[in-house]
Amino acid sequence: MTSVNTVLGAITPDELGITLMHEHILYGYPGWEGDQSIAPLDRGLIVNNAVETLTRLKNDYGLQSYVDATALDGGRMPEIYKEVSEKSGVQIICATGYYYEGEGSPVYWKFRSSLGDIREELYELFMREVTVGIRDTGIKAGVIKVGSSKDVITDYEKLMFETAVRVQKETNVPIITHTQEGTMGPEQAELLISAGGDPNRIQIGHMSDNTDIDYQEATFNHGVYVAWDRMGLQGLTGCPMDSERYPVMVELIKKGHASRLMISHDFIITWLGRPLNLPEAALPLVANWHPGHLFENIIPELKQGGVTDEQIDTIIRENPRRLFAGA
Ligand SMILES: [Zn+2]
Repeated sequence: MTSVNTVLGAITPDELGITLMHEHILYGYPGWEGDQSIAPLDRGLIVNNAVETLTRLKNDYGLQSYVDATALDGGRMPEIYKEVSEKSGVQIICATGYYYEGEGSPVYWKFRSSLGDIREELYELFMREVTVGIRDTGIKAGVIKVGSSKDVITDYEKLMFETAVRVQKETNVPIITHTQEGTMGPEQAELLISAGGDPNRIQIGHMSDNTDIDYQEATFNHGVYVAWDRMGLQGLTGCPMDSERYPVMVELIKKGHASRLMISHDFIITWLGRPLNLPEAALPLVANWHPGHLFENIIPELKQGGVTDEQIDTIIRENPRRLFAGA
């Protein structure tokens, strides 16, 4: 595939432009659906919130493309993404695939696997969503999302990784991952590549949750893209502070890794279910957790550390293009 599946149809990788590689228009932990008598789905609110956010990013910073990393079991709603893309003018790429076992919804597939081999069923599903469309929407997934647990890739998760590679081999669709607290980055890369995945089309995610430079380099050394995609989410759920992250990012760029580095926020514009009740004390920690953080704070910080405009352009525009082009 030299084309990119957006929710409005195929484009070329050259048309992506400045791209946020791991974000969420909406997200709901499995089970949110059951709370709808109290907190019903508000489609209008979700669309308005996302259109307002993406329009501002486009007008203020030239954002052209946005990868929505919500897996099948996170409340993914492609028809809403389509409306948001039409109204904001930002290209949106959505995902097929499943979240990691601990916070996804593995029960259905675990039950089916107790009755027999589910590999063909998963392959059929991912393949259909990438090549035909999601349900009857005609909207095709443009990336496959898979994830692993803290310090382990479970058997369930391995099935997802292997299925993603099978579909990539036939379609060239990029694979983007979730690592839990930045663990198992090199192991994910090894698993995907040994199954036949193309390192040029693999993005190992949430590596901003790990500031160990040797571990970072062990991941980069597999030739994959490494996403620092939880910027602004700090001091919570095992995330380091941005102030601890910046020197490591600068060091990695100085060591020559700009051509494989991605930056994003994993920010959720609208939560499904009831609103989040973050404790008062946590609010200052997440003050910069929003998708403008890259442009408003991260780029200036990196420049202060000696990162050049050319390297910034590589990270925010050139690398997304190359991930989709397989370069
Ligand atoms: Zn995410």
